[in-house]
Amino acid sequence: MATTITSECINCGACEPECPNTAIYAGGVPWELNGTPGAAIAQDIYYIVPSKCTECVGFHDHEACAAVCPVDCCIPDPANLETEGVLLQRARELHPETTFPDDAPSRFRKEGGAAGG
Ligand code: SF4
Repeated sequence: MATTITSECINCGACEPECPNTAIYAGGVPWELNGTPGAAIAQDIYYIVPSKCTECVGFHDHEACAAVCPVDCCIPDPANLETEGVLLQRARELHPETTFPDDAPSRFRKEGGAAGG
């Protein structure tokens, strides 16, 4: 993943349109990737599909969902830490039409590295 939405989500919906990977869905809504559906991961709050989340690597130097969340409940999942390399490769697989340079925007490269957010 590794961004995840905690139970503090108030269902405002602000994060969903910000995700460059369409990885965020409302609770109860099935997700899909390349036409293949998946069962909703959360029923009552918004959720992020781990296999579609790049922590915005490739697009932004921060997680776009976290930037707009009014209650700061979009956080790095401590149970699912991934490297910048893994996330960049995922961005390339999710967006085969896009060329991502090795130094594409990444939260890992902003001041202070991956700490904070
Ligand atoms: Fe929930 Fe935050 Fe997304 Fe609003 S922005 S739906 S509170 S995770």
